[in-house]
Amino acid sequence: KAAKARYVARNATSLKLHEEAIKSLPGGNTRSLLHNAPFPVFMKSGKDHKVFSEDGHAYTDFVGELTAGLYGHSQPTIQKTLVDTIQNVGLNLGATTKLEAQHAALICERFNLSLVRFTNSGTEANLHAIQGARRFTGKRKVVVFTGGYHGACFCFPEDRPIENCIDLDDWIIADYNDVEDAKAKIEGSGDVAAVLVEGMQGAGPCIVGTHEFLHQVQESARKVGAVFILDEVMTSRLAPGGLQELEGLTPDLTSMGKYLGGGITFGVFGGKENIMRVYDPRDGTALAHSGTFNNNTLGMAAGYVGLSQVYTPDVNRSFNDLGNSLREKLQKVSKGTKMTVTGRGTIMGIHFLEDGMKELKSFRDRKDDMDLKELFWFEMMEDGFWITRRGSVALILGTPAEELDRFVGCVDGFLKRYGS
Ligand code: PLP
Repeated sequence: KAAKARYVARNATSLKLHEEAIKSLPGGNTRSLLHNAPFPVFMKSGKDHKVFSEDGHAYTDFVGELTAGLYGHSQPTIQKTLVDTIQNVGLNLGATTKLEAQHAALICERFNLSLVRFTNSGTEANLHAIQGARRFTGKRKVVVFTGGYHGACFCFPEDRPIENCIDLDDWIIADYNDVEDAKAKIEGSGDVAAVLVEGMQGAGPCIVGTHEFLHQVQESARKVGAVFILDEVMTSRLAPGGLQELEGLTPDLTSMGKYLGGGITFGVFGGKENIMRVYDPRDGTALAHSGTFNNNTLGMAAGYVGLSQVYTPDVNRSFNDLGNSLREKLQKVSKGTKMTVTGRGTIMGIHFLEDGMKELKSFRDRKDDMDLKELFWFEMMEDGFWITRRGSVALILGTPAEELDRFVGCVDGFLKRYGS
């Protein structure tokens, strides 16, 4: 209660802005995730790894735009590319461009894909991957997993889709990290066009798929001729070739997005040539795939420059090492407390669990101590860290190591005050 009262007091401008915003936006914003009771903080600007609120507070940005903000708010190479593109290329040209071809070639090479298509978002990438799989197999159903999040209209928090999920009847939901259930549902259901899975569930946040589970999913999909789609919208940043490289997976299709557009709205899906040919318009029966901004010049240019010049394979590896070391330090200070930290590389989830469970294998098992979780969020903000209320952290390139250590110190202090 006291923390909430302090929040209201230190964010008075945000409260005023929220009262205006609710007059034209349901709940006052356009992303439900960003609604934080009693009202959300309004950010004014960002620079490097920091964001600055309308209330005059500076925060180290650990939201990292849910992994899309990997480059931070003002990475010079990205910034220059965006300005050059606006000045010398133009916004959208209503035509195919060299920019999209070069970005496609780089993504194909980096992630070992034969052909790709661009979209506006990760949601659309999954939508088109599923449609492609349906056309390719002539089948209809899609196996997904409890706790899976594949985009705005593909969300499976329980054993059924959320209400606004499209094609409500076409999903078969198996338990994440349950090898036997995955095998039974994929191999036993019939009419399975695709299996869609995250290598680590982002919405958990950060429930890591086991090697055995992910390989079982791949094997069962192959066995029944279903298209194995790996959703790497979040995880593609975890290694130069994505999580599939880390786990030795060979998906038929991969969906990605987020930082691969250099911070501009972006999605991409692709994989095996024979499947992706269903989208080849030189064949009169091809599936249509449209989207006004699919090849928007800013995303194509910034995404390419980001991947080729900034987030190079070496930078990728050392960045993820840094993330792993931060997680280890957090795990160390959380020993014997209710806090546990999940994740891989530079993406992690901070949980406060009722039963002190230290290993989280499934969304369903999670019993959060909501009061402690809330208190953590309020107090970390007071210490100058911007994290999601659900407890996810996605690091930004160039965040100074001292700032990460300061975070560990603040978490340690919090746990000593309230953690056991
Ligand atoms: N798939 C996963 C695993 C995601 O984490 C997200 C977004 O967070 C999406 C798909 C949807 O991507 P977008 O928000 O770009 O539509």
